[in-house]
Amino acid sequence: MARLSSYDRMMAEIEADPEYQRRLAQHMAEIDERQRMQSWAADRVRAAGFDPAEGRGRKLLEKIERTAGDLCLARTRRGTLCIALGSGNGWRCRLHGGASIGPKTDEGRARAMANLVQNRPK
Ligand SMILES: [Zn+2]
Repeated sequence: MARLSSYDRMMAEIEADPEYQRRLAQHMAEIDERQRMQSWAADRVRAAGFDPAEGRGRKLLEKIERTAGDLCLARTRRGTLCIALGSGNGWRCRLHGGASIGPKTDEGRARAMANLVQNRPK
């Protein structure tokens, strides 16, 4: 077995201490939490007018993180920002996406034209 220096022995003793392990875990959790509050998702929650650290803001943050989505943030008729999850182009929700702008790819346009011909009234 390799010989341990007095420093290594001291460190091994410290690392074996349950109190040290508990405080280290707590410290790591605090670092994670701080990084989380600086994340892009937390910025989006703040943009919606909520504090990502507590209450409803925290729930919103969890929702964004869980789904890897984004908030809609369209202005509602009440004047508040929509906090539903968005999707697709522009990341608006199902209520705020607006009308379809039609097929985008050449393949999609061709398919649309084929359907048009196929379904033409006789
Ligand atoms: Zn919306």
